[in-house]
Amino acid sequence: MNLLIFGPPGAGKGTQSALIAKQFNIKHISTGDLFRENIKKGTPLGVEAQGYMNRGALVPDDVTVKMLEGALAANDKQGFILDGFPRTIDQAKVLGAMLTNRKVKLDCVLVLTVETKMIVERLSGRRVCQKCGEVFHITARPPSKPGICDKCGSDQLIQRPDDKAEVITKRLDTFWAQTAPVKKFYEEMDLVREIDGTGSESQVFMKIQDALRETQ
Ligand code: AMP
Repeated sequence: MNLLIFGPPGAGKGTQSALIAKQFNIKHISTGDLFRENIKKGTPLGVEAQGYMNRGALVPDDVTVKMLEGALAANDKQGFILDGFPRTIDQAKVLGAMLTNRKVKLDCVLVLTVETKMIVERLSGRRVCQKCGEVFHITARPPSKPGICDKCGSDQLIQRPDDKAEVITKRLDTFWAQTAPVKKFYEEMDLVREIDGTGSESQVFMKIQDALRETQ
């Protein structure tokens, strides 16, 4: 199964993608995570991406597309859920060509919808383990021991630099200006299943599973 998950920052794409990947035994490919891994390792790609990310802007297509191509080549045999790509119509077109070349078909585009007020609440309260990447929220998903990662025990739960208030506003502007039109692109291909992204993680996951059952 090859899926794409789409929605504004803070809609729950990363959380739901992880659940979907586990349930259906497919790979979770997140361009944001790939950039963050490169930043952590200090690669030239990470150095280039970091400035854009910290300002809430998109990383240029040449860099992003090359990185995505590598990740797809490594994972398209098993099936995948693509999270964070495409973020522009140009990227959607490039992805279409890449998938056609690889003889891979997209089965469904899950579109998560969430109100702006909730997005801001989710992003500003998000904390991430710097060691293993596990995601928490100060009220909705706090770690069992304050400041300690439940998964790996590290005490490095941080706020992503792009989850600071001023950058959240910029990321939302970027989403509405550059990314939102991508939904229509996939609607025209009759691939979109819209999911109400409000509610708990498990409630949203149930809605996604219902939608996927209908597409099969
Ligand atoms: P995310 O983790 O998906 O919220 O992505 C974090 C940041 O990584 C974004 O705000 C962008 O700066 C960058 N990024 C992730 N995916 C893309 C993409 N497809 N195109 C350009 N920039 C991206």
